[in-house]
Amino acid sequence: MTAEIIDGKRIAAEVRAEVAERAEALSERGVRPGLATVLVGDDPASKVYVSSKQKACAEVGIAVSDHPLPASTPQEELLDLLDRLNRDPDVHGILVQLPLPEHIDEGAVLLAVDPAKDADGFHPQNLGRLLAGEPVVAPATPAGIQQMLLRANIETNGAEVVVVGRSNIVGKPIAAMLMQRGPGANATVTVCHTGTRDLPEHTRRADIVIAAIGRPHAITAPMLKPGACVVDVGINRTEDGLVGDVDFKAAAEVAGAITPVPGGVGPMTIAMLLHNTVLLAERSESA
Ligand code: NDP
Repeated sequence: MTAEIIDGKRIAAEVRAEVAERAEALSERGVRPGLATVLVGDDPASKVYVSSKQKACAEVGIAVSDHPLPASTPQEELLDLLDRLNRDPDVHGILVQLPLPEHIDEGAVLLAVDPAKDADGFHPQNLGRLLAGEPVVAPATPAGIQQMLLRANIETNGAEVVVVGRSNIVGKPIAAMLMQRGPGANATVTVCHTGTRDLPEHTRRADIVIAAIGRPHAITAPMLKPGACVVDVGINRTEDGLVGDVDFKAAAEVAGAITPVPGGVGPMTIAMLLHNTVLLAERSESA
């Protein structure tokens, strides 16, 4: 069997076109959606992520204000900046690029972003709403995965989903989203991690495997049920270039559908950040 390749680039372009229309409608009503990006330090990968997010914003008509800070920035200074951005009416979304330098308490920073401007959906209030099934904004990567499943017509209703990875930014929120009632969800979800006794036993019975591990080739073909859908969230820099968490070539021979790396979840993540920003700008109109 050769799997259908789920084209994240194409689906992301579809989402971005919809976001651009909504951004234009907002601008016509006098509200230019605005995203503030905050990057502390000069980690090369983070710089690339932030600049690609900024470029994507410009393409859909979102105004970007860029706030690069040196790695030595004291936490108080970062919190002061967030306070100013929270009060700035031209800023509808705030993105603090993670990870932060070690001397900064990530929890305190995420808490300092106004939940109504939380473009990444990482504020505990927004994560709590997500868990309760009353989301406002969802974290961009899991939101992108769910949109990709919906738009690629992958049936989640009643499906056995195995999520490998339990991070706060991917594993936990995607599990919380897919277990809810409603379209693109209503699945039976299992979450695996390093404490899982027999990982292949779980993945082999999954209709949908979501790999958010951060280890190349962690998911191999014998770990999959024939015909399963495989979503590869991983981004690993190796000698062979960027690879995901799934042994793509072999897995594509067993799976029914699979997302590539690059060109799968990555572009969806950026598209959903744009979606979140425009959504927050729309909500600010009625606030
Ligand atoms: P984390 O390192 O925070 O989490 C990795 C998870 O995988 C942990 O829960 C860990 O378990 C689990 N894990 C590690 N090894 C194994 C194993 N052998 N068996 C079972 N579980 C295992 O990573 P993130 O969630 O932040 O990211 C995961 C990957 O996704 C990375 O490659 C990252 O670069 C990528 N990513 C891609 C994005 C995109 O836009 N495409 C966005 C965000 C991330 P435990 O908790 O027990 O340690």
